[in-house]
Amino acid sequence: MISLLFAAAVFTASQGSAVEVNVPDEPHVKSVKVVWQKKSVPAFHADGAWRTILGVDLDAPAGEHAAEALLTMEDGRVEHREIAVNVEAKKYPTSRLNVDEKFVELSKADLARSEREAKEIDSIYDRITTDIVPDEPFTDPIPGVGGTNFGERRIFNGEPRSPHSGADLHAAAGTPVHATNRGRVVLAKNLFFTGNTVLLDHGFGIYSLYAHLSRIDVKDGEMVQSGQVVGLVGATGRVTAPHLHWAMRVQGARVNPFSLVRGR
Ligand SMILES: [Zn+2]
Repeated sequence: MISLLFAAAVFTASQGSAVEVNVPDEPHVKSVKVVWQKKSVPAFHADGAWRTILGVDLDAPAGEHAAEALLTMEDGRVEHREIAVNVEAKKYPTSRLNVDEKFVELSKADLARSEREAKEIDSIYDRITTDIVPDEPFTDPIPGVGGTNFGERRIFNGEPRSPHSGADLHAAAGTPVHATNRGRVVLAKNLFFTGNTVLLDHGFGIYSLYAHLSRIDVKDGEMVQSGQVVGLVGATGRVTAPHLHWAMRVQGARVNPFSLVRGR
């Protein structure tokens, strides 16, 4: 007879979304990590369970993926508990755009700059810090303004490009942009593609990025509160009109930023 007690807990998420997982607390557990997509993601203790948020990348294959919770006990033993994430397929639309050739055919100097900046950002996304705990709700950076084009497969001037890894929020230039949650500023500067850019570390591998700002109101290393203004909507970098490009990464996975906001 198969005991339900030992059935793995299954969490469901669609491609390109964040998913909350929880592991029931047990006596004498000191800490918990969840191994997911080869990454070791720490969990925090809240409301009688060990909780964390996992990222399911836009291009993660659909189907059930095994994950594992590692429970470190007070005596140092490590216990294993099986969990799984059921990834549901999600179809994203394709869009064709014509953009200034300058951004498609890059000069040597621009190419070198954009590659250097991409590396710098990727190395930030690789870090999983734990001094900030993401146990408060994530909120809209521009209250009430949504964005629907996360995940769009894009063709620029006839050439396929990587899918749109954020959501575009349309608002007038100068509209304040608020931090989606408390965090630490890990980048605040002008980048080739995203213009004036702010990147926040929310802990446990969760990062938010705000791009094309007309003005940056925070400094590298600064701690920001949830809702604090980090800058103003603008049209810096590769854009045709003022808007906020808002992106979130969860352990490096590209997720719809709105998938972290409850009630959406
Ligand atoms: Zn965008």
